[in-house]
Amino acid sequence: MNATRISAGLSLRLSVTDRCQLRCRYCMPPEGFARCAREELLGDDELLALVSDLRAAFGLAKIRITGGEPLMRPRLENLVERLAALNPPDFALTTNGLRLAESAAALRRAGLRRVNISLDALDPAVFERVTGGRDVRAVLRGIDAAWAAGLTPVKLNTVVARGLNEDQIENLVVFALERGCELRFIELMPIGPGAALHAGGFVSSAELRARIAARFDLIPLGREAGASAERYCVTDPDGRVGTLGFISPCSAPFCADCNRLRVTADGRFLGCLAWEGGLSVREPLRRGDFPAIIQAARDVLRCKRDNADFTRHANMASVGG
Ligand code: SAM
Ligand code: SF4
Repeated sequence: MNATRISAGLSLRLSVTDRCQLRCRYCMPPEGFARCAREELLGDDELLALVSDLRAAFGLAKIRITGGEPLMRPRLENLVERLAALNPPDFALTTNGLRLAESAAALRRAGLRRVNISLDALDPAVFERVTGGRDVRAVLRGIDAAWAAGLTPVKLNTVVARGLNEDQIENLVVFALERGCELRFIELMPIGPGAALHAGGFVSSAELRARIAARFDLIPLGREAGASAERYCVTDPDGRVGTLGFISPCSAPFCADCNRLRVTADGRFLGCLAWEGGLSVREPLRRGDFPAIIQAARDVLRCKRDNADFTRHANMASVGG
């Protein structure tokens, strides 16, 4: 295990459900996929015990709650409140934003610090095309609610695919500047349904940056250790200033200092999005076998590689991005 990776503690990505109401073209097949049985999913007590054990063994730098769509987990704010009591230095949630308008205030009260909201298009027709048919206005209300609730900084995640939503790039940059959000472009990964789209639709961060630089001023800010985004200060022609991020898992992998440990909704550890299968700790967790859980985490962390192979993994929605 590369000890420097986790010297400041683990960055835990907890997928709290494999359910999602969207069918994003790069993530979920139109017919969905085989979901876990309810009894296979980790309950609140189990997740709490797992995070407490990992914190005791490795230290905790961050918790990010993801999915599937995490806001589809019933009574998520109860889980958030109990996780917040473990005092993670950073505590964030990634969401498609559709249900955020109703839940932002309760999540903030429960102790969540901030949110990342996925937004691949502002144009309603393009948004529908990317996501399989939902109303982008619900996401926009969610962004406003996140600001109002103090779930800040509010970050936006955008995946661009050629021929799908590349006409949205400039408008999204302007929108993010107007709303004070940090917009982060994530390179499309050839994972699950993303593989077919990736073949003809991959747009590299370098290409995106060149395109944005034609209309906006960009000044590089670099990448913090352990972070995924290469950040830039951006200024638009009207003088508005903000920050853009480019996350480049394909063209410039940031695996070498990655301190993430992913936990799937059914209790498997994964060292990387690119992994298949993972190591299940559900049974050790259910029988209270703390040493077996910690050993499994050590084994997974030891197998982290310096470069990911994204082509083998089945789907993102069950793992959590
Ligand atoms: N449902 C939530 C959402 O959409 O934000 C959380 C889970 S989703 C799997 C997390 C992130 O993964 C989203 O920002 C999504 O755009 C990204 N994602 C999913 N599939 C991807 C792929 N094939 N390549 C790159 N990013 C992907
Ligand atoms: Fe659902 Fe998020 Fe996947 Fe879209 S990216 S299908 S919102 S899990």
